[in-house]
Amino acid sequence: MQIKSIIPALYNNLLSTKVLNLSAVETKATCQNCLRSRDKRFAYTYKSNLKCCTFHPYLPNFAVGALLSTKEKTVGIEKLESKILSREFALPIGVMAPYDYQLAFLSKNEEDFGNRADLLCPYFSAEQNQCSIWEYRGVVCTSFYCRSDYGQDGQKFWAVMSDFLSYVEMALAEECLVQLDFSPRDLSDQLMYLNKRDFSLSEQTQHQLDEVTDRKLWNGYDSKIEFYQKCFAIVQKLDRNQFKEILGEQGLELESEVVDYGHRR
Ligand code: SF4
Ligand code: SF4
Repeated sequence: MQIKSIIPALYNNLLSTKVLNLSAVETKATCQNCLRSRDKRFAYTYKSNLKCCTFHPYLPNFAVGALLSTKEKTVGIEKLESKILSREFALPIGVMAPYDYQLAFLSKNEEDFGNRADLLCPYFSAEQNQCSIWEYRGVVCTSFYCRSDYGQDGQKFWAVMSDFLSYVEMALAEECLVQLDFSPRDLSDQLMYLNKRDFSLSEQTQHQLDEVTDRKLWNGYDSKIEFYQKCFAIVQKLDRNQFKEILGEQGLELESEVVDYGHRR
């Protein structure tokens, strides 16, 4: 197993072959029969029907577009569509957790993770007991392994990979916004919704954006679904050289670090 078969396929044209060809044999984190729900060596266990999915990921605009362009509509994709149509924190930069969820997640106790059903990811299929947007899952979900075959070195590798893919996600999502005529100011306004720490009284229970705020954030775009699909098309057209330009020096350094930590395992 190599990295290229684990990460979302849309990165396969963009990341360096040195990253894509790194081996990634992870047999200990048995997600179908969740290790963490039965191995008592962990400080506490997760519920087997929640696993490590008591988390609401941020999905960047291009990944949302990719999911909306797939033929097979899973429960997660249907949920994603309904979130977009009901202004549930679907912004041009991507779809994120609503404020009420963000606050609940920030205020949880350690052992709530993996155990509180109200925190379960909206894209989790209860029927199949697994993720239903796996092909385009976000960076946190791509790089989380509760145990690695490579031990501590493996965990360190996944942490470095997570930093790199977070950088990639944001750089590509921002590139889509730039190409679709959003200003740097628009961009920073949207990032505030992602990195929220303080919530006013009304924000503490807020699950949807009001119409006026939503319209302002969307800059005149009427069809959000088409907008996200355009973002996906932009990322699909990029080649490695364009991607390197988008990443810049900092992103390329993170990419080399991934290769470095990959070889240290
Ligand atoms: S990575 Fe998550 S789903 Fe997989 S075994 Fe670990 S806790 Fe369970
Ligand atoms: S996106 Fe998938 S893997 Fe990530 S938390 Fe949701 S259900 Fe789990």
